[in-house]
Amino acid sequence: MKPGIELAGKQVLVVGLARTGIATALFCAARGARVTATEERTEPEIAETVAKLRAAGVTLELGGHGAQTFVDQDLIIPSPGVPPTMPALAAARAIGIPVWSEIELAWRFLRGRMICITGSNGKTTTTALTGHILETAGLPVQVAGNIGTPLISRVDVSSDMGFTVVEASSFQLESIAAFRPDISVLLNLTPDHLDRHGSFEAYARAKTRLFENQTDEDAAVVNADDAMAPQYAPTNTRVFWFSRQRHVAQGCFVRADEILFRTDGTETVLLRRRDIGLRGNHNVENVLAAAAAATLAGVEPRAIAEGVKSFAGVEHRIEYVATISGVEYFNDSKATNVDATLKALDAFPGNLLVILGGRDKGSDYTLLQAALARHARLVLLIGDAAEKIETQLAGAVPAERAGTLARAVEIVSERARPGDTVLLAPACASFDQFENYEQRGRVFKQLVRDLAQKHAATAAARKA
Ligand code: ADP
Repeated sequence: MKPGIELAGKQVLVVGLARTGIATALFCAARGARVTATEERTEPEIAETVAKLRAAGVTLELGGHGAQTFVDQDLIIPSPGVPPTMPALAAARAIGIPVWSEIELAWRFLRGRMICITGSNGKTTTTALTGHILETAGLPVQVAGNIGTPLISRVDVSSDMGFTVVEASSFQLESIAAFRPDISVLLNLTPDHLDRHGSFEAYARAKTRLFENQTDEDAAVVNADDAMAPQYAPTNTRVFWFSRQRHVAQGCFVRADEILFRTDGTETVLLRRRDIGLRGNHNVENVLAAAAAATLAGVEPRAIAEGVKSFAGVEHRIEYVATISGVEYFNDSKATNVDATLKALDAFPGNLLVILGGRDKGSDYTLLQAALARHARLVLLIGDAAEKIETQLAGAVPAERAGTLARAVEIVSERARPGDTVLLAPACASFDQFENYEQRGRVFKQLVRDLAQKHAATAAARKA
């Protein structure tokens, strides 16, 4: 049984009014709580939200947070972007006020079973894939959390027989209390967000709170190949491993062309490696994790194989765009750091024309030299970081400054030969020239589609 919570008559404070904060405030207000929402932005900046919340009876504190606001509460729900270390939150905790992330609150009301996925990389892909496999199996399933829809807004549509697959971040997991997924998945642990968590140890501890309340009735899926994850594997629940490299005793692994699940000495073939349409070894890991979680959820091997085969991937993650004159174009705009770009480069055998650059995050681009020398024949540089990248690549691969993404696409379209692949995997943030990585990816895809049209028109004119 889940520990419920009666919201009626409670003083609830919601901190931050982006998508999750708005949904949380409305959720609590609808259940009779006396809700205050506090937000740094001012009324004119979020006029629409203000109107909606006021209509629901939510009290608003805009343009900053007063310390007193955090004292007179029964429960505080910070938004996913608010660091749990915020002094006013720490002060509230010190006087015994529960501070819960939205996933804790949502979980208490959610019906059905939950698969919760976390890790440093691959969360969105694995969450989407797991959801797709369950859907392929005909199970009632919804996908929520960091991937897009706040979990709290899926509560009302959850059902006792259904599954919710949740992508959870370290911030959300850091502020749980009784949150307990039926199946938890830890993909990997690499240094990330250390600016917010202080140390790797603190970051890893926050993420692995995922396992904290699980019992023998639940299950955890953990990456056996990761350098750090096994050290944080739980002892309070059943652990199933996944590995590309070893034949694990309990869990999912690769043997020749087969992907198998083994438990209590019984092996089941789930799918073939060639069923995986996604590129790159990192995606094999994501498939192993999703296949293990789906198996534990009771999905038959045939549906797992079918689901993996028909999964088209997630937008902006090594996403195939088009083939023009024998040249394939891929959008990996989500590669906003060097590590992600390395993963993308390794996913292709060679003959790459790679578009790099954007806003530098203090990265060391010398780490790209070897992989570019191996896989790429030309690099096009865009954005603020162009000069730094060019200097740090130190001639390992021919590089040219293109300035903008539009110019880069123009240049690659002139230089690429049939059999080549054009890859946008910038290794940088996008904020110098774009709103975010999604917009950068969409602009790239539009440029490629325009190019395809131009080629088609030229070819048609030549025929005529
Ligand atoms: P997240 O939601 O954790 O950011 P995504 O699925 O959005 O993860 O993938 C982000 C990027 O991380 C991808 O473009 C890819 O380069 C890299 N990536 C994906 N899966 C993995 C993995 N299992 N291990 C390491 N890197 C990965």
